[in-house]
Amino acid sequence: MQLIDTHTHFYLPEFDNDRDEVVERAIDNHVVKLLMPNIDIYSVDAMIAVENRYSGICYSMIGLHPTSVKKDYLEQLDKMEEKASQHPYIAIGEIGIDLYWDKTFIKEQIIAFKRQILLGLNYKLPVVIHSRDSFPVVFEALKEFEDSGIKGVFHAFTGDVEWAEKAIMMGFKIGIGGIVTFKNSGLDAVVKKIGIEHIILETDSPYLAPAPYRGKRNESAYITIINKKLAEIFNIEIEEAASKTFDNSVELFKIPANE
Ligand SMILES: [Zn+2]
Repeated sequence: MQLIDTHTHFYLPEFDNDRDEVVERAIDNHVVKLLMPNIDIYSVDAMIAVENRYSGICYSMIGLHPTSVKKDYLEQLDKMEEKASQHPYIAIGEIGIDLYWDKTFIKEQIIAFKRQILLGLNYKLPVVIHSRDSFPVVFEALKEFEDSGIKGVFHAFTGDVEWAEKAIMMGFKIGIGGIVTFKNSGLDAVVKKIGIEHIILETDSPYLAPAPYRGKRNESAYITIINKKLAEIFNIEIEEAASKTFDNSVELFKIPANE
């Protein structure tokens, strides 16, 4: 059995004291690849260092997170584009629109989102979308890319079936994480309707730990908990759930196979 954590901020200081052990626990739990979304220009060096240390396991993305879109965002985007030309990345991410934390820079968030989608299309890379309290704005922005061949994932998806179907129609996968294990999240019913062929797994660690670790530091090994929940929802064996989401992830991100 092989699993992939398609979204972990594993380069953050939360893992500085025990990074080797976290990777060991991931491998022990069949989590063989860790995909790392970037946050801003200041997180790139730490991310690349982790990718180099765990080469063949950890893969980096490049992008400016919507909550990091501030006054200096054009400067940040210039630097992102420069970085994108200097190193191979597995995706553009994470990008998108977040109106939950702060609406001050909504215009700038939309501009940054579209510019980074173009970057993804340029490099033929999937885009990893963060959408919080913002589906109408995100889909409005996506309209002009309808026939562009855009591919990607709506990460940490918590919307309803209608939004999921819109995303899938446009060429996106649905990223499911710890929230699906929370009682009363209602996400299990949505996941069942979405269908496993459109789903990939993620932790978003160190955030959003699944039950029974809710509120604690999350880590990639817990993908196994999310996979188990998925198997329950679809009433299939955990090996079958793992193999389906593994294939979905490899196809989307073109992840190199293990030698
Ligand atoms: Zn994230």
